[in-house]
Amino acid sequence: MQFLANSLLELITQTSTNLPPDVRAAMSDVTASEPMGTQAAQALSVIASNIDMANDDESPICQDTGMPTFVIHTPVGVNQIHLKEAIRQAVAEATRRGKLRPNSVDSLTGENSGDNLGPETPVIHFEQWEQDEIEVKLILKGGGCENKNIQYSVPCTLDHLGRADRNLEGVRKCILHAVWQAQGQGCAPGAVGVCIGSDRAHGYYVAKEQLFRTLDDTNPNPVLAKLEAEIMEEANKLGVGPMGFGGQASLIGCKVAAANRLPASFFVSVAYDCWAFRRLGVRLDAQTGAITQWLYRDPSRPVQHMAENEGFPLTGREIILTPPVGEEQIRALKVGDVVIINGEMFTGRDQVHAYLMKNKAPVDMRGSVLYHCGPVMLKQGEEWVMKAGGPTTSIREEPYQAHVIGEYGVRVVIGKGGMGAKTLAALKEHGAVYLNGIGGAAQFYARTVEKVLGVHLMEFGIPEAMWNLRVKGFMAIVTMDAHGNSLHAKIEQETGEVLETMKR
Ligand code: SF4
Repeated sequence: MQFLANSLLELITQTSTNLPPDVRAAMSDVTASEPMGTQAAQALSVIASNIDMANDDESPICQDTGMPTFVIHTPVGVNQIHLKEAIRQAVAEATRRGKLRPNSVDSLTGENSGDNLGPETPVIHFEQWEQDEIEVKLILKGGGCENKNIQYSVPCTLDHLGRADRNLEGVRKCILHAVWQAQGQGCAPGAVGVCIGSDRAHGYYVAKEQLFRTLDDTNPNPVLAKLEAEIMEEANKLGVGPMGFGGQASLIGCKVAAANRLPASFFVSVAYDCWAFRRLGVRLDAQTGAITQWLYRDPSRPVQHMAENEGFPLTGREIILTPPVGEEQIRALKVGDVVIINGEMFTGRDQVHAYLMKNKAPVDMRGSVLYHCGPVMLKQGEEWVMKAGGPTTSIREEPYQAHVIGEYGVRVVIGKGGMGAKTLAALKEHGAVYLNGIGGAAQFYARTVEKVLGVHLMEFGIPEAMWNLRVKGFMAIVTMDAHGNSLHAKIEQETGEVLETMKR
């Protein structure tokens, strides 16, 4: 199989950097549904540019390249042990080249393996089939959306929707609830793969498997096809909108399967994927390993640019912040303001926040900008270069953020998906602000980094280290201000009220 290694590397690279046509088409459709000038439209404009940048530069669409999950069909006689080893090598090589972020962490020690390899990483599922070729499908689904997966054991009682029974109506309620609870934390507009039935473990697998269907296909089961269409229509009336900013575009796909279950169990398992819906596949010659066909792609349709405008359309009303930032300037900001940052910032996510609870900060953070981001970084000569660096889900830092703001004098926190009541109170008390970046826009934001000035706490691994960056033109939107206002809380409440009307 002399071509196998290259074929697998190409599959991983393309999956990480080039969104498939069905996802592009779905994103184009929802982009058309958002009125110009709204935050939703601005977010979608950045996303469109980001998709183009990633493809043009063959760089990750989103910095979180997720848990690589392969589903493979082989003819009888193919050596699966050999194939598994080739996949592991290709994953390590793609990581070395910056196409995948080193994402595999020892669950006991917290140590990052650095090459995306480790126990049960990557995930590889094998099936045999009666065909002559090997089929390899790959999905890269990041942590932000993975954390919004949800499993219901019906009958159960759902926020705003009441009781969900063991019938199709109960399933419908569960799926709508799944979209609602994701809000912007899974980088909406997203897609859901759903399994009705099965057991807990396999139900989640079947749900994720549905994400390998194309977004524009029709379920062969007419009952499920009707359910999928209903969910698409209703979910897009919820008002979650891109990034949870509010708007029309909440869901780009709903794919449902039904599996048999035990009489005593009735699970509805939902796999939530974000707009950065990265999945591709290839057919391989079983003798040589050469690619004979790409899946999900139409070779007669060349990849077209998504963006009509370049990035974020500026209005001239943006507020420029140049760190270190003073309290007065922060207290003048209000929800909805668009901010441009020029100057220094620090990244920090889970490990940095936990560290700062018990240890002194390695840098002076007074007046600083703290960016929730786990970037893809490559060392080129003596210099670190950011290859991808969008915001990560902020709510994970909720237990720590108030302390970090108060203790270290942080003035600006940037992330995505919003934070909770404790952080909101700390913003008010200490004169700080939360900015929502555009989740998944890893190329858009990487291009604002003029220089990587340094790195601290590197023992936590590349995504979790504290990077010191100098940025220019870093755009984000105030979604939680120092006056107690939170766009996230407002949208959650408003969409909850809409959900209530969908009870039937
Ligand atoms: S687009 Fe958002 S949810 Fe999706 S992988 Fe990237 S950061 Fe995570």
